[in-house]
Amino acid sequence: MTENLDKLDVKSMLPEELEAMLADMGEPRFRAKQLFKWLSGGARSFDEMTNMPKELRSKLAEIAYLTPPEVERKQVSALDGTVKYLWRLRDGNFVESVVMRYEHGNTVCVSSQVGCAMGCAFCASTIGGKVRDLTASEILDQVMFSQLDSGLKISNIVMMGIGEPLNNFDNVIRFLRLVNHPDGMNIGMRHISLSTCGLAEKIDILAQLDLQLTLSVSLHAPDDETRSRIMPINRAYGVERVLDSCRRYFERTGRRISFEYAMIRDVNDTPEHAKRLGDALAGTGCHVNLIPLNDVPESRLRPSTPETMRRFIAALEKRGINVTVRRKLGPDIEASCGQLRRTRLHTT
Ligand code: SAH
Repeated sequence: MTENLDKLDVKSMLPEELEAMLADMGEPRFRAKQLFKWLSGGARSFDEMTNMPKELRSKLAEIAYLTPPEVERKQVSALDGTVKYLWRLRDGNFVESVVMRYEHGNTVCVSSQVGCAMGCAFCASTIGGKVRDLTASEILDQVMFSQLDSGLKISNIVMMGIGEPLNNFDNVIRFLRLVNHPDGMNIGMRHISLSTCGLAEKIDILAQLDLQLTLSVSLHAPDDETRSRIMPINRAYGVERVLDSCRRYFERTGRRISFEYAMIRDVNDTPEHAKRLGDALAGTGCHVNLIPLNDVPESRLRPSTPETMRRFIAALEKRGINVTVRRKLGPDIEASCGQLRRTRLHTT
């Protein structure tokens, strides 16, 4: 690849920033809107942008780059139509996205980093650590090109793929503003969920931004002892600290938080854990999403039995907690939570 990496990543720029850039080039305002439309529509080159003068297109090609991701691998579930993409990025790294077909609309699950630095014991995405953050445009591309390639109109986004979104805070916020923009893909914040392992300080900053997105917090244990065993981040932000931030988030935004809880046999699934979880969340109006642990061959952790899950659910419901169990989509293509990883390992 000979492209100059110092060139401008225009697809990460908001319309007002494009406007300032184009004004510097002596171009009228309305060009920014045109350019943003092309960028949000998945243009593969500046040459395609035929409603802009040729000289401007060549000038843009000199100072900026557009490298849509390549589909390195695409798998379609024979069972439920879930589509999993492995994208090759411009620097040769890989990330995954998954398109899920729900009755309420097609949902894409996007990655926010190449790899992950959080080190959760049950998650395949963190094997090998974090390679780098994704740019806003690389996150946006996953939504845009999943839609273009699959032909499925995307109406919802979940940031639950590879990476910790709040550990790539600025690029993720920029992505949200881009994808939400009325002149862009125009996906409403209420149709976007962001999942975090609990970077409490960042949850506090996010609350101040008052976006109307849904925040999911990967809790996975109600007490520090259990949580620190499976989630190293808990040593920096313990359960109480995370729950405090969640309370503030709810007070500030009015948006209820959803807690994710992967059921791991004999680790976080005892009646005592259910009781503690119920006590910790009682009266918050929060909702618990139980995820049957997906087997990650590299880890020795195993899923809870269906009987244990049933008892866990009953114990939570008895304490007035609203519980749902996550449905497994695309099981034949390893598309479920925790199974996305530095997939070069899978493809070679
Ligand atoms: N870093 C963010 C985004 C990942 S979202 C976060 O931690 O929330 C993916 C969700 O799947 C998280 O709740 C994560 O904890 C969960 N998960 C990871 N590995 C899993 C596995 N093997 N089985 C079930 N859920 C898993």
